[in-house]
Amino acid sequence: MRRSLLDWYDNNRRILPWREDPAPYHVWISEIMLQQTRVEAVKGYYERFLKTFPDVKSLAKAKEDEYLKVWEGLGYYSRVRNMHRAAVQIAEEYGGEIPASYEELKKLPGIGPYTAAAIASIAFGECVPAVDGNLLRVFARMTGWRESIAETKTKKAAERYFQEIFEEKTAKGKTGSAARNVPGDCNQALMDLGAAVCLPNAQPLCEKCPWKKDCVSHRNHEETAYPVMPEKAARRIEAKTVFIILTAEKALLHKRPARGLLAGLYEFPNTEGELSRKEARDFIRLLGLSPLRIKALEKAVHIFTHKEWHMTGYEVRVDEPEAEEAETRKRLHRDGFVFADRKDVLTTYPIPSAFRVYSDHFLHL
Ligand code: SF4
Repeated sequence: MRRSLLDWYDNNRRILPWREDPAPYHVWISEIMLQQTRVEAVKGYYERFLKTFPDVKSLAKAKEDEYLKVWEGLGYYSRVRNMHRAAVQIAEEYGGEIPASYEELKKLPGIGPYTAAAIASIAFGECVPAVDGNLLRVFARMTGWRESIAETKTKKAAERYFQEIFEEKTAKGKTGSAARNVPGDCNQALMDLGAAVCLPNAQPLCEKCPWKKDCVSHRNHEETAYPVMPEKAARRIEAKTVFIILTAEKALLHKRPARGLLAGLYEFPNTEGELSRKEARDFIRLLGLSPLRIKALEKAVHIFTHKEWHMTGYEVRVDEPEAEEAETRKRLHRDGFVFADRKDVLTTYPIPSAFRVYSDHFLHL
C-alpha cells in the first residue's frame, strides 16, 4: 500500500510553493495557514507572510498590529497569535531553531498533534502520520469505520492504521529509501489524495485511487456513507448595527479586546441589535460625537463557525472633534478608538473580513 501510494504521489503531486523548500519554518507556516483554509486562498498569504517575516526571529520581533495585518482576511486569528507566541519561545528557548521532534513540537503554542506530525515528518523525516480530516475520511472509507470521526478512538485507530502503512517493508526488506523522505511524502500523498480523489462531501473518484482494491466502502459501493460525522449544533444568529463614522477624510475604528472573538483586531464601531435611525443617532451621541447626516447602508451577513452576524449599517457624518473637544478625543483614544484614513485602513490596521462590506464602502467613498 505504501508503494502504490508513493507511486501515485510521484505522478499526481500538487506543485505548491511551500513544497519547493520544505524548511521547518516554511512547513510550519503553511500548515497553520492551511487549517480551515483552502490551498488556493493560502498561496498569496504564504508568499506575503514569508516576505514580511522571513524567519522565526523576524516573526518573534513583530508587533501585534503587524502580524495581524499580514493575516488580515485569513480568519481564525488565534492561529497567528499562537505562531507569534511560539516564535518568541523558539527564539528564547531553542536559539531560533525549530525543534526537530514530534514531542518537542507539540509543546509549542498552537502546535497540536496534526501540525507537529506534519512538521516532524515533512521537515525532519520522522515517521508519524499527520491525521486531520482528510486522513480520517480516507481511513473511514478504506476500513468501513462506523464510529464518528470526532471520537478519540477513531483518531487513535487512524493513527495506527497509517503508521503501519508508513512502516511497511519494501520487497527488499527496507522500510525507507535514501533517495526520499518516506514519512513526509506519505503524509503529503495522503493530503493530496484526500483533496483530489477521496473528495469530501461528494462521490470520491475511486477509479483514480491507488488503494481502490483494498477499500471496504468502495467494494460495497457505499463510499459516501463514510465518514460518520458528529451532529452539528445550529449556529446562533446575532443582530448587530455597524457604523462608518466619518469626519472629512477619516473613519473611526475601534480595537477589539485582547481576548475572545477577533481579539486585538480593528472594527467599525458597532453594537448589539438592529438599531433604528433614531437609536443610531443616540448611539453616536453616547460616543461624545455630533451626528450631522446619517445614511442607511446595505445589510451584510458574516458566518463564523458557531455563530452568524446579521449586520445593519449606517454611514454617519460627524463634526470632527476639535481642540476644544480634546476631552472627547482623549476618551475615545483611551477606549481603543482611532481615526483612520484610507491608507491606514489599507496598510496599518488589521480589519477582519466580517467587516469587508463596510471597509470596502469606506475605501470607495
Ligand atoms: S477507493 Fe474511493 S473511497 Fe476508497 S479511499 Fe480511494 S477514493 Fe476513497
